Order: sequence, then C-alpha cells, then structure tokens
Amino acid sequence: MNILILGGGGREHALAWAVVQNPKCDRLIVAPGNAGIATMAECATLDIEDGSAVIALVEEESIDFVIVGPEAPLAAGVADRLRDAGVLVFGPSAAAAQLEASKAFTKEICDACGANTAAYGHFTDAAAARAYVQQQGAPIVVKADGLAAGKGVIIAETVAEAEAAIDDMFGGAFGGAGAEVVIEEFMEGEEASFFVLCDGTDVLPMGTAQDHKRVGDGDTGPNTGGMGAYSPALVLTDAIAQVALDQIIKPCMDEMAKRGMPYQGILYAGLMIKDGVPRLVEYNVRFGDPECQVLMMRLGAQALDLMHAAAQGRLAGARVNWADDHAITVVMAAKGYPDAYEKGTVINGLDALPEDSSNMVFHAGTKRESGKFIANGGRVLNVTARGASLAEARDRAYAMVDAVDWDGGFCRRDIGWRALD
Ligand code: AMP
Repeated sequence: MNILILGGGGREHALAWAVVQNPKCDRLIVAPGNAGIATMAECATLDIEDGSAVIALVEEESIDFVIVGPEAPLAAGVADRLRDAGVLVFGPSAAAAQLEASKAFTKEICDACGANTAAYGHFTDAAAARAYVQQQGAPIVVKADGLAAGKGVIIAETVAEAEAAIDDMFGGAFGGAGAEVVIEEFMEGEEASFFVLCDGTDVLPMGTAQDHKRVGDGDTGPNTGGMGAYSPALVLTDAIAQVALDQIIKPCMDEMAKRGMPYQGILYAGLMIKDGVPRLVEYNVRFGDPECQVLMMRLGAQALDLMHAAAQGRLAGARVNWADDHAITVVMAAKGYPDAYEKGTVINGLDALPEDSSNMVFHAGTKRESGKFIANGGRVLNVTARGASLAEARDRAYAMVDAVDWDGGFCRRDIGWRALD
C-alpha cells in the first residue's frame, strides 16, 4: 500500500513509525510532517484542511490509504471528501466528528442512549447560563461548545468565577466556539483515556493511557497540550473498561449509526473514574497527543492492520495482540511553554540515542537546518520507551531525556507518578 498520513506532530511521527514497520506499507508520505518524520518517510507540503488539495496529492502519488491525525481536517470534512472520491480513509465524517467539535452534540447523544456522564445545561445566552449556575452552585464546569484547542473548559470553584467564564465565552473570548456554552456538573475522580477503534458497526479496544495536562511536577501550574503519558492506565482496569465499552461507548456508537452518521476511526473517550464507576468527560475523534506515542510503542506494526480493518469495516474478526508491557513518553518542551517561548534553539545529542522497538524520540515540533535539529514549537520532543514494568520504561525514557543536549528545553520529571506511587 501507498499510505498518506495527515499531520505533523509527535502523534503523526509515532503513527509513521508504526506504519513503516509493517511490510504492507510500500511507501509512506506524511503531510506536512516534521524533521523527525523526514528521517523515516517522505514529507509533503500541503494544507491538510483543504480537501481538494489532499485529493490532488492522493491522485498524484497513487495513495491507497489515508490516515488522518488531527481533528481539524476531520471537522472540516476532509475524510468525507476522500470517501466521496473513492479513497480508503481512517477517520470519521464531519458529521461524526461533531463528537469532538460540539460538546452539546455529545451530551445530547449521551442523553439519548443513557450513557453515564455529567448532568448539564446547554445555553445560547448569558442570562440563562448565569441563572443555571446560580441554581446549581459551585464547583461547576463551564465549556465553550466548539473546538477551542483544549482551552475552552473552565473549572469554576465559585459561582462568581463561573459567571465570569460565561461572560468571557459569550463575549467572544473563544471566538465562534463560545457562541454556545455547556455547563456541567463537576465530576470528581481520576481521569484516564480509553481508545476504541470503530468501523461504523463494531468496536475494538485499542488501549488505555493517562496523560499529564499540567506543566509542573505534581500536577501543578497551567494546563498544556500534555506533558507526558503512559500506557496502560492502571486505574482503567479490564472490568471498568468493559463497563465503559458496554454502557457508554457502544450505546453512543449505536446512537450515531441510528442517526445516519456511523462513526469510523479511533474514538478517544476521556473517562472520570470514581469508586470503580467510569463516566464520560469528553470524546475526541482522533488519537491523543502524546497518548498516541505510547499506544504506538506498544502496538508496533499491527497498528496499521487495525486501522486498515476499521477503515474497511472489518473489525468484527480483528484482535489486538497485546504484550504484557508498559510504555511511557516524556514531553520535552521549549522553556516558557505553555506561555511565550523561544523558537530556533539547537538540540544536540539526538543522533546518539537508541532508536529501536523499545526506545524512540518522536518529534513534535522540530525542523532541520544545516544538518542540525532546531526547536520549532512549544512541545518539541516526545522521548518514549517501553519496558516490562512502568518503572523500567520510565528509567529508560529519563536516561534518554538526560542524554538530550538542549539548553532551551525542559520536561516534567514525574511522568507516571500516579501509577508508580
Ligand atoms: P474536556 O476538553 O471536556 O476534556 O475538558 C478538559 C479537562 O477539564 C478534562 O480533561 C478534565 O480534566 C476537566 N473536566 C472537563 N469536564 C469536567 C467535569 N464535568 N468534571 C470535572 N472535570 C472536568
């Protein structure tokens, strides 16, 4: 197969790494890719949200299978355009991608099928939203309905804070994403990510992970895109995962099919677990970044077969071959991230690091100039390792981190702490 992956972050580097190991992959192009991806695949310059441009590349390069990494092209309908053109694609339609692009849509699907999630109200004006908050009290969660790059969620400790968030959102702080607001019950518990392959009819669990959203050790400081992850997430036991599958994910997938928008692709369920009971926090319609990096490290080449089976509606007979292993990824970010940070600092030492089936540095934001790797984003490297235990994987990952010679970067030193404690 000639394969095209859309995206250019650490998630797509990990996908590329898994895909090129599979003998079914004859040729891999990643658009736009990055300097790390360029060491293992061809990179193409492309506006990946422009369906016509993607189709043109597919025709020019005789691509047989397209894997869509990020949510923006999915919400923009790129998977629909490809499917209409007869191209095999891994990723949901724009209609099904509303599970991420609209929080109100997801809540309504959950209501319709009885999936366990936070109680909520959905508002199109500030006065009604304020009245709801005053009636419910705090803590309470205020969310912009649309895509807001992970920033549209405010956990308000007081009613006044919630009211300020409502005013900000209706005042345009999140642009069009905040034209509608969802207000939710605050759920206590421990969060974990559950990844499930869907082919429109059948579902197949593809692993669990736990992310670390805060920038500082001990989960302190502002939220980020994610500072590290590990898999499996021990809090999400097999029994809890089965409940999530039977009582949340399958009913939602059946409801989507019933509404004429069957979901095909990876479904990422953010779950809140308390007293052994999982509740849905949110759905995302793509792999998490950096969770994808640990999933790919554990799955290896079979990831391509699984995504291909999902795209072809063949999940009924598919299975995942799990090893009894653990993987961890440590995000190295530019100093200052998630606030203002410097681009263009030089990263040395990468060439000397091991790159094999248990150790990889996935690039999230790098470019190459005069043979040198240059930081070109906030989150820059995902140092990833696999081991027989989480402690072994962690020790290996941090040994690699310590061998990276990059004055302009930093990382958390405690990735995996919840499971390791
Ligand atoms: P979301 O974008 O919906 O995943 O929200 C981002 C983060 O906010 C989640 O990962 C949770 O940590 C937190 N969060 C969202 N909704 C709730 C809720 N109802 N109760 C508690 N925490 C929440």
